[in-house]
Amino acid sequence: MRGVVLHAPGDVRVEQRPDPTIEQPTDAIIRVTASCVCGSDLWPYRGIEPVSQPAPMGHEYVGVVQEVGREVRTIKPGQFVIGSFWASDNTCEICRAGYQSSCVHRVLMGTIGTQAELARIPLAEGTLVATPEVPSDDLTPGLLAASDVLGTGWFGAVAADVQPGKTVAVVGDGAVGLLAVLAARQLGAERIVAMSRHEPRQKLALEFGATDIVTERGDDGVATIKELTDGLGAHSVIEAVGTQESMLQAIQSARPGGHVGFVGVAHGVELPGEVLFSSAVHLHGGPAPVRRFLPELIELISDRAIDPGRVFDLALPLDQAAEGYRAMDERRAIKTLLRP
Ligand SMILES: [Zn+2]
Repeated sequence: MRGVVLHAPGDVRVEQRPDPTIEQPTDAIIRVTASCVCGSDLWPYRGIEPVSQPAPMGHEYVGVVQEVGREVRTIKPGQFVIGSFWASDNTCEICRAGYQSSCVHRVLMGTIGTQAELARIPLAEGTLVATPEVPSDDLTPGLLAASDVLGTGWFGAVAADVQPGKTVAVVGDGAVGLLAVLAARQLGAERIVAMSRHEPRQKLALEFGATDIVTERGDDGVATIKELTDGLGAHSVIEAVGTQESMLQAIQSARPGGHVGFVGVAHGVELPGEVLFSSAVHLHGGPAPVRRFLPELIELISDRAIDPGRVFDLALPLDQAAEGYRAMDERRAIKTLLRP
C-alpha cells in the first residue's frame, strides 16, 4: 500500500509500505476513505520534535472495515467507521470514567500511520464507532473532523465547563480552536470570543458561532477579554495552541472561579506558581478522550446539525501529501484532507 512517511523535518514522502495485517485478535484492518494532516504533525515536520528515523504519519481516519480479528464481534467488515488517535479498549476503569485517551491499554495511532491506503486499528471494538449505514460522500469531511479536531475542541469546551449563558474565550485559531467555537455554540454559550488575527479564520469562527473577535495576543489579549467582561474575565477559556504564551493568556483571561480547558499539545510550557495560585481558576485538559464524544458527534454530523468539515480548506490526493504539509506549515491552509 501507499503511505506517508516523514524522513526528516520538511521531507514528506508517499511511498510503498507493507500492507497491515491482523496482529492481535482484537485488531481490525480498514481501508482508509480519508485522512488528514494535523497541527501536531507539524511539530516533527518543523523539527521541533526530533525525527530520529523515517516515521509513518497520520492519526486521523475514517474508513471501511476490511477484516477483523477473531475476538472482534461488534465491528464487521463493510461497516463505515470512525476512531480517534488513541486506540482504547473502552472497558477499563479509566475508559468507563470517560478518559479513553488514557486507557490502560491504549495504543497511539500516530505510531501506525493512517495517512495511508490501509490501517490496522488495535482494540477495534473499543476504538471504532460504526455509522448506521455508509454515509454519503459529502459527510466524509465532517466525520473525519470528529476523529480528532472536533472531538478535541469539544473536550476543550466540556473541560472549560461551557454552559448556557456563559462567556467563553477561545485561544487559538487552528482547526481545534475553530471547532471549539462550534462546540461552545452547541453547548449553549451566550458569548463566544475567538482570538485570531487571520481574516479567513475569523470568518469561519463567526460562521461557527463566535460573537466577538479579538486580534490582540498575550497581555493585550488578556486586557481585551477583561474589557469585554466588565473587568472580570471569561467564565470559560479554551486553550488550543500549547505554547507558554497561549497557556498564560488562557489562565489570565479566565475569571476567578472560572474554568480553563487546555487541549493544545504543550511544548515548553512552564507555569509560574504565583500565576497559578493567584488565578483561582479550574484547570482541566490533556489528550482529548475523543471516543467519549464520538457517538454524539457522529449523530449531529449525520443529521447535518453541524458541519465541522468546513475546517478542511484543502483536499488533495494522498500522493500530494507533501504539498498538504507545506500549505499548513505556511498557514495557506487551515487543514488538509487527504484521499488515498
Ligand atoms: Zn481502557
